[in-house]
Amino acid sequence: MKDVNYIVVLGGGESGVGAAVLAVAKGYRVFLSDSGIINDSYKNDLIKHNVEFEENRHSEEKILNADLLIKSPGIPDKAPLIQKLKANGVSIIDELEFACQFTEAKLIAVTGSNGKTTTARLLYHILDHAGLNVGLAGNIGFSFAKQVALSNKDVFVLEVSSFQLDSMFAFNPDVAVLLNITPDHLDRYDNEMDNYIASKFRIVQNMSANQPFIFNADDENIKRGFTEFFQRDNVSLQGLSIEDLMQESETFSVPGTDFNMNRNDLSLNGRHNLFNMQCAVLAAKHLDVDNNLIEQALMSFENDAHRLEKVININNVEYINDSKATNVDAVFYALESMTKNIVWIVGGVDKGNDYSLLFPLVKDKVRAIVCLGIDNSKIFEAFKDVHEIILEARSVNEAVKIASLYAEPGDAVLLSPACASFDLFKNYKDRGDRFKAVLLQQHKMMTEGIEVEMNFKFKINPVDNNSDD
Ligand code: ADP
Repeated sequence: MKDVNYIVVLGGGESGVGAAVLAVAKGYRVFLSDSGIINDSYKNDLIKHNVEFEENRHSEEKILNADLLIKSPGIPDKAPLIQKLKANGVSIIDELEFACQFTEAKLIAVTGSNGKTTTARLLYHILDHAGLNVGLAGNIGFSFAKQVALSNKDVFVLEVSSFQLDSMFAFNPDVAVLLNITPDHLDRYDNEMDNYIASKFRIVQNMSANQPFIFNADDENIKRGFTEFFQRDNVSLQGLSIEDLMQESETFSVPGTDFNMNRNDLSLNGRHNLFNMQCAVLAAKHLDVDNNLIEQALMSFENDAHRLEKVININNVEYINDSKATNVDAVFYALESMTKNIVWIVGGVDKGNDYSLLFPLVKDKVRAIVCLGIDNSKIFEAFKDVHEIILEARSVNEAVKIASLYAEPGDAVLLSPACASFDLFKNYKDRGDRFKAVLLQQHKMMTEGIEVEMNFKFKINPVDNNSDD
């Protein structure tokens, strides 16, 4: 980079530390600053790689004179320090933007409001299974920059959030995937959906001739994005229809490819996951992966916890943890994918949700609604004319107790909250972990008469508090 000697990194989480390690490796003078405490393992990394850093403060005299600033995606543009840097004319970029200049690897970028982690992991699993030298990085919690510095690959699958895209300017993935755009994180976008759509379309801002752009062709916000925020020529547009997947079929196939397999052999279900798998397969076909290897990978894939995770069966009731469903659209697909009657545990910090999308599914499939949150008034208001049974719980323990009273044999109890978690929990993982712990305790009590010690010292992800919740 021309005229850059001194780089400042703001945020000592996974992405910031990775960026600092890469910047030092490339010979820049680097200073990392975090307004909070830096996790010990990251501190050790910084020391090992000779990165000068500070915690619990931002020393402006060391920050404002940066030639280039790499910002954790968790820090909003409106933060006073960022405003000062901008006023000083300092370029502010994301870790992914910084790191992409130092690798020759093929980059496949996955973004969207929902399904990023699932799709990125699916694609990584396919490519890894096919024997490619592939890395998985980005918003998923593994620094791209650190991998570029320490273990460069031939291909990277990058999960990219809108917060990251906001500080990306030259990034140009070889293949881009845009899964959907539904209202989320609008507080960072002046409550303007168009600003959020524009942010998502930054994924293709530099794409050119024949670079594949895989997208959800039925998504109204993506359609709007094409008319308002898409200015590239000759990009290879590859729309996939999630609506077409409504049709029951014994075969899972991927339009635009010769790939097909038996639907029953897939490891994930739900229409949203069929769509995620189509996107992953189409991207993998651009890297010429053999159909047999793709099929094997789709059979053996295991999704991350907290995404329609089957926890346990108690008294012929299945308990499912979908704590990562923090918006209405994710819950829509969770409810749609259920083949049983459901007791639905919902609630937390409402993000300005419009629940009306869920009314038909709730009428059709939900036996009782259990609200788990401090303020459940919006849910009561939204569903009062839709369902007779709406109950309140103030803890997971209470929610599970109530749900198990209303569930009948053969039903499922689904934690799919449509809301952020931080009224009662540290984050969505904490919420899901507690749900699982309560169920485990109940199961042990019933089967062995043993009371399990409830130890909630779950590790909080020290990453950049990016767009998890
Ligand atoms: P992200 O990384 O974008 O948050 P995840 O893969 O972690 O996405 O999934 C988050 C939630 O969204 C889960 O509840 C999951 O079941 C749901 N989900 C996954 N894929 C989709 C999709 N394509 N459309 C809507 N919801 C989805």
